[in-house]
Amino acid sequence: RADIALYQVKASGRDGIAFFEQQMQIAASQRLTLETDLRQALQNEEFCLHYQPQMDASSQRIIGAEALIRWQHPERGLVGPGAFMEVLEESGQILAAGSWVLHEGCRFIARLLEQRRIDPQQFCLSINISPRQFRQSGFVDEVAAAISQHGIPAQALKLEITEGMVIQNVNDTIAKMHQLRNLGIRFAIDDFGTGYSSLSYLKRLPVDLLKIDQSFIRDCTRDGNDAEIVRAIIAMARSLNMDLIAEGVETGQQLAFLLEQGCSNYQGYLFSPAVTEDAFCQLLAGR
Ligand code: C2E
Ligand code: MG
Ligand code: MG
Ligand code: MG
Repeated sequence: RADIALYQVKASGRDGIAFFEQQMQIAASQRLTLETDLRQALQNEEFCLHYQPQMDASSQRIIGAEALIRWQHPERGLVGPGAFMEVLEESGQILAAGSWVLHEGCRFIARLLEQRRIDPQQFCLSINISPRQFRQSGFVDEVAAAISQHGIPAQALKLEITEGMVIQNVNDTIAKMHQLRNLGIRFAIDDFGTGYSSLSYLKRLPVDLLKIDQSFIRDCTRDGNDAEIVRAIIAMARSLNMDLIAEGVETGQQLAFLLEQGCSNYQGYLFSPAVTEDAFCQLLAGR
């Protein structure tokens, strides 16, 4: 890493500088290779979506799913978004990848509807939207075209955005959100609690759902501060009339804590990780 390399520069003078430059070159060329591989991946349709069920713990029912991108790499196997999302975003390839995710998500909903596996009033697919994708000028039209092309009700789709995206350009973002909302599309704020939202501007956002970030859930049964944050977020959602879902629920104790605090919707390994469409359909059928 650059910071370690820099340390070695200081430690060993001239040789260190050569080492540092070498490390930088390696990093740059690896990145370039990844960019090229990603372009290939888009062309060859090596991406796929996995679906993580979202549960209502009080009714024990699947109320929706989150679509999470995966890369079926010809040599490396299944690769998660942590390994490539940043490069997609920085290189601008996220626009093509994001379009693909949107359409694939719509096709998934259309198939579930056609196979009568879901009730459109009671099931919603969440899709993650990247900052660059949301900011592009044709985004509203693209979403409108996708839902009409695939013949799905707008209510079956939810867009996940982050607090950071909103803050960058509050008025523009809100205007766009209203346009999409007029189509019937709903919004979730992802990773909620890790950004800088103040109550006053959260109130202005046409948001339907807050997703409590998994970092607070992880230790909520052990760490008093995290427990307080979770309580505060639940109270905030209630006062703003927003729905809530907890992310990253892994244990029965975490779920018990959430239920005690009045949050019964969750996603996490406790019920299931993100799985293939086939496996998801089995979960829907009741395992
Ligand atoms: P996210 O939207 O916050 O998604 C939740 C992440 O937490 C997912 O990681 C999911 O697999 C993981 N997770 C779910 N339950 C648990 C749990 O119980 N414990 C733990 N430790 N982790 C859990 P994943 O799939 O690696 O995705 C990482 C991030 O990549 C996502 O975070 C999202 O920001 C981004 N991402 C994924 N798919 C897309 C996409 O299609 N488009 C965009 N723009 N971003 C995406
Ligand atoms: Mg998400
Ligand atoms: Mg999240
Ligand atoms: Mg995240």
